[in-house]
Amino acid sequence: MEKFNTVCTDSVSSITSSVPSRVLFTVPHDGARPTKFASLISPRKNGITRRDRGTWSITRGVLRFFSADVVVGHESRKYIDYNRACQEAFESSLMAHTYARYHGMISRWADQRRKIYPIEELLVIDMHSFPKDRPERMCDGYDLVLGTAHRKTILYGQPDRAFGEFMRARGYSVFIPDVKPARTDEPDNFSGGYTVRTVAKDWHINTLQIEISEPKFCTPNSALAGTKLSEDIGMCLSEYCGR
Ligand SMILES: [Zn+2]
Repeated sequence: MEKFNTVCTDSVSSITSSVPSRVLFTVPHDGARPTKFASLISPRKNGITRRDRGTWSITRGVLRFFSADVVVGHESRKYIDYNRACQEAFESSLMAHTYARYHGMISRWADQRRKIYPIEELLVIDMHSFPKDRPERMCDGYDLVLGTAHRKTILYGQPDRAFGEFMRARGYSVFIPDVKPARTDEPDNFSGGYTVRTVAKDWHINTLQIEISEPKFCTPNSALAGTKLSEDIGMCLSEYCGR
């Protein structure tokens, strides 16, 4: 059984494998923790506040098949969106420390892993889920939608295409992004958010956003499919990212 080290705080946790992993998962939107200081903290006024239910449990499931590292944000998206630039992420300055801790953990991981592995072998995967009724219709029918800022976050090789093709071969319908936006007539909100863009730019590491269909994998009725998804992601990483 693989040993993991965990650093848990109220607002953010990091899990690191006993053998340093080349892959880091980030889970920004599955937080539901009712903060102790809710009455003191102003909710966010702009942007989406819905929870990406299931992304933490699916990520946790991957760890049974592949020894990745993980950074998880536990606070509710009503108060903080870890996947936004600092000035858009929260209203209350009481959240500044939480935000800095989350991104500090990612930066520390990138800095340390770059010292021990070839940089092109590293991969950061940002985990999200989307509901059936999400307005961006391009996601209709897909199980997984990959986001790479139109391949700007893929700096070496083709891990996005390898991942997408592996999952397609296992029966998933996957949107694999190209260099051009999938749609030009409305904002392409699935093209990769703040974390994947920033880590690729600042640390020169490949990054990939995965959006998972919530109804198909993240509800109590689709938990079995979610468990299988964890296994398939783990198998894909074992094949392509090794140890
Ligand atoms: Zn999300």
